[in-house]
Amino acid sequence: MYPSTYQASITNLFTHIAYYYLNSYDDVLVDRFTMDNPISGSLTSLNLRKFDIVLMSLSYEFDYINAIKILLLNNIPVVNDRGRRPIIIAGGPAVSANPLPLSKFFDGIVIGEGEEVLKLLMDSTGLLHSKDLFLENLASKGLYIPLLHDGSKIKKSYVVDLDSSYYPEYQIQSLIIEPVFGRGYIMEISRGCKHLCSFCMEAFISYPYRVRSYEKIMESVGKGLEVNKVDRVVFYSLSFFDHHSADRILETLLERGIRFSIPSVRADTLNEYRVDLIRRGGQKTLTLAPETHSDKLRCVIRKYISDELVSRLIDYGIKLGMEVKLYYMVGIPFEDDEDINQLVKFLRGLIPILDKSRFRRRVRVVINPLIPKANTPMQFFGLINKKEYMHRVRLIRKGLPGRYFRVEALSHNLAYMQATMSLGDVKLGDVLLRYVSEAYVNEELHLSSYKYLLKSLGIDTDYVFKPRNPSEILPWEFIDLGLNIRGFNIIK
Ligand code: SF4
Repeated sequence: MYPSTYQASITNLFTHIAYYYLNSYDDVLVDRFTMDNPISGSLTSLNLRKFDIVLMSLSYEFDYINAIKILLLNNIPVVNDRGRRPIIIAGGPAVSANPLPLSKFFDGIVIGEGEEVLKLLMDSTGLLHSKDLFLENLASKGLYIPLLHDGSKIKKSYVVDLDSSYYPEYQIQSLIIEPVFGRGYIMEISRGCKHLCSFCMEAFISYPYRVRSYEKIMESVGKGLEVNKVDRVVFYSLSFFDHHSADRILETLLERGIRFSIPSVRADTLNEYRVDLIRRGGQKTLTLAPETHSDKLRCVIRKYISDELVSRLIDYGIKLGMEVKLYYMVGIPFEDDEDINQLVKFLRGLIPILDKSRFRRRVRVVINPLIPKANTPMQFFGLINKKEYMHRVRLIRKGLPGRYFRVEALSHNLAYMQATMSLGDVKLGDVLLRYVSEAYVNEELHLSSYKYLLKSLGIDTDYVFKPRNPSEILPWEFIDLGLNIRGFNIIK
């Protein structure tokens, strides 16, 4: 079950892994559900309640809301002491970082990566006659079983060697719906990210950095393109060019006339040659995430991308006729208006490059508030308040002429809701349940009802905005990601 759209489900690699891995067992029947078909399966039309086990992959905090809605829609008792099947197990980056807001609802929550857990589930099917025995067998092996948890640390589960781990060469292809990054064969070349920027939950969750070998990647791409009857590769990784064979992989594909797209690239691993490779692979947009142009804030987020490099890459990308999309964060701890002015000054400095280009491109500038996430060094800081956020977004909008820039800013309301979930504890489960039962209509988010429920259930959302005392033990510290998060000191 992927508690979002069908399109999002086929963009998610774990959907393909789980579906084909489980299908490789003769005595297992697998079907797929999304918010587009929450009650009956895509293939068998069987009702969700008929299955022994429901696996839910939750990529973002907003998926929590749909996950609860699915239980309600299927008349499955929502609270996890339901005592009968289906056994419901959730996983994904956000719940691995902090499973507490959902601990009321699920029988098990996967901490870390799913492959080992899939194996474990299959090895435990002999115990399915007893839900208790089945769950006891899963406890602590990379799974958090809320009803059995005694407070001890839970180590995350992860694949040690990507080359020998299961990879889905067959992938779900839809003729009607395109995945978010377009049709193609998804090839994951690495997991984790060696840079560990202080706000980046994905990097902390997927630590340590691991790669697939060039040989495995090329073998998989060869088979994958053939069996899926597609002619394009979509590369998954957190930072593509950190892979030791990144150039060689792309050069080989270009020699063979195969198109590709690379959704995630860290700017300081790029140069003109690599932008050229990306362009020749068919990608039309150059996406960079400098996050800030203030040296002070670069230290805070542990991500230093130089101004000189960013303008050189943009200049080059524009010469090649590419669209340019830039991501920035507002609300980085210790930020002030001067830091925002530096961002505006940098971007205005691009105007001569845009003027002399024959392509007349507008640069897309995407602003996101920094949302502090559990199990990252930012967990000790608060979310910027709405007034300050709006003020800084206004400064950016005002400083950037619409002829050259298109500014898009994420709504603070959404960031606030996300932060309540990312830093929430078990009490938030009651809010989520009441919100889904009473206010979540037509899958539209209503901040005022959400805030009302927080208040009426006595939850003070100061925890979202106020920095935490580093000596405080945080509720999710029983999750062991294999890193000492407290060792990442953030100082101005
Ligand atoms: S480089 Fe990108 S993926 Fe890696 S830690 Fe930083 S933000 Fe995350």
